Amino acid sequence: MTEQVEKEPKGPRRTRRAVLLGGLGVLAAAGFAARDEIGRAWWLLPGVSKPRKEGELDYAAASWTAASPANWRLADRPDDYRVDRIVVHVTQGGFESSVDAFRNPFHKASAHYIVRQDGHVEQMVRELDVAFHAANRHMNERSIGIEHVGFVDRPRDFTDAMYAASARLAADVCRRYGIPADRGHILGHDEVPGADHTDPGPHWDWDRYVRMVRQELGAAAS
Ligand SMILES: [Zn+2]
Repeated sequence: MTEQVEKEPKGPRRTRRAVLLGGLGVLAAAGFAARDEIGRAWWLLPGVSKPRKEGELDYAAASWTAASPANWRLADRPDDYRVDRIVVHVTQGGFESSVDAFRNPFHKASAHYIVRQDGHVEQMVRELDVAFHAANRHMNERSIGIEHVGFVDRPRDFTDAMYAASARLAADVCRRYGIPADRGHILGHDEVPGADHTDPGPHWDWDRYVRMVRQELGAAAS
């Protein structure tokens, strides 16, 4: 929070009391209400970011390792960009090397989450921010990127625990942003316009995944 914002609430209250004594209480109350409105949306002002804390998570079941700031862009989603897509990836490498790659300022790419074969979820970029995962600026701005540890040509990498953990995460993202759990909104990296990547590949079971995301949404709702 900035200093100006911290000081904001003291001013109007004093002013209001003074004006009330002068017999103009209605006008002062209206002014106070307007101030309150601005106070609630202060981060919409240019150059002001929402408060964020190191290590803060968007998905409670995840662990946090920060990606290098060179691999993502500061934003204030969903206020500046609407979040309405989830992009599914496969790392083409192990967990440690993927985490290391996103921490490397020369890697030029990152994703919000990495899901492991044992169901562990690592968050590396805040959902507020734009991760560089889809190689398409517009898609990056509107999406959450989820990496899955494994290789596209190794079906055994896509474990039950991985599907379950990723579906729980995707359902949580869908619920928080009001994203429909369907193939129009949950897509593969290979389906991003202009993509030259082939992940998640032919062994990723889309029917199963989308069904599991819907089941999670249904379970959370009831
Ligand atoms: Zn990818």
